[in-house]
Amino acid sequence: SSVMAKSKFEYVRNFETDDTCLRNCYIVVRLDGRNFHKFAEQHKFTKPNDNRALGLLTRSARSVMEELEDIVISYGQSDECSFVFKRTTNWFKRRASKLMTHVASQFSSSYVFYWKEFFGEQPLLYPPSFDGRVVLYPSNRNLRDYLSWRQADCHINNLYNTVFWTLVQKGGLTTAQAEERLKGTLAADKNEILFSEFDINYNNESLLHRKGTTLIWEKHEETVTKRMKLPNEEEKDVNVTRSRKRVQAYHCDIIGDQFWEEHPSILED
Ligand code: ATP
Ligand code: ATP
Ligand code: MG
Ligand code: MG
Ligand code: MG
Ligand code: MG
Ligand code: MG
Repeated sequence: SSVMAKSKFEYVRNFETDDTCLRNCYIVVRLDGRNFHKFAEQHKFTKPNDNRALGLLTRSARSVMEELEDIVISYGQSDECSFVFKRTTNWFKRRASKLMTHVASQFSSSYVFYWKEFFGEQPLLYPPSFDGRVVLYPSNRNLRDYLSWRQADCHINNLYNTVFWTLVQKGGLTTAQAEERLKGTLAADKNEILFSEFDINYNNESLLHRKGTTLIWEKHEETVTKRMKLPNEEEKDVNVTRSRKRVQAYHCDIIGDQFWEEHPSILED
């Protein structure tokens, strides 16, 4: 307050360190659920993928994009979500701690706020939390490689988890036996186990699980009817069309060029 501002105590503000993010770089905030292995168990997440939890993760990410400034894309999978601020953002003067903590707390409070929409009567047993980190990427290539890295991680884990839980749930193996069976196997081996032993073609598994969830802003036309009264005229209904933007979800490949060619406005020059 203004009273404190002039006090002899004010010098302590100088102990604050400058954490301004380098200009011209994309600012990425990645969140990850704390101890979600246990959280998933205690809340009876289905294995390998709980769609309620993925829906809640995406709903919370949407809230972050809608409530905070200048986030151009987010990518979520498992218990993690990355948010990319446009490279020219000047929100909170690019202070890393402000950006990161706003993302983390908006996300966490949304996760709790929207819990019921996805889990219904199943109670939330304790307050979950998410860690955050900030990473700067100076080029479009670096940013795309970052997002590719997260999507590749999604793919690798989902392939492993799909085979693992198929061996347990359909193959009758114990979790220890399934782990042993998969030790040292390559992606091709895992695909082969699914295909030859369980008649599952991994490529037909859901895109949500294989690709994760990408959120971007998209423009759309919105027409509303307004009752208008012009001078010397009778009151009448008029259609007003305006361009609005909304958050759109995709479960598609973001490693190749196609997604970026179809949405050229995400990346800046
Ligand atoms: P910013 O996002 O920059 O922090 P702010 O509106 O939160 O903006 P603060 O300087 O943090 O600004 O001030 C918080 C304000 O919230 C107070 O000025 C007051 O109006 C209100 N407020 C907070 N706690 C209380 C409370 N317990 N009782 C009444 N008002 C409160
Ligand atoms: P840390 O606090 O270090 O992040 P963690 O237990 O959260 O520890 P992670 O590597 O983040 O470890 O893994 C998250 C775990 O949460 C997954 O391994 C999985 O067990 C569980 N999990 C997260 N999301 C889902 C989901 N949608 N469906 C099923 N399980 C999930
Ligand atoms: Mg405040
Ligand atoms: Mg305050
Ligand atoms: Mg985690
Ligand atoms: Mg994780
Ligand atoms: Mg576009």
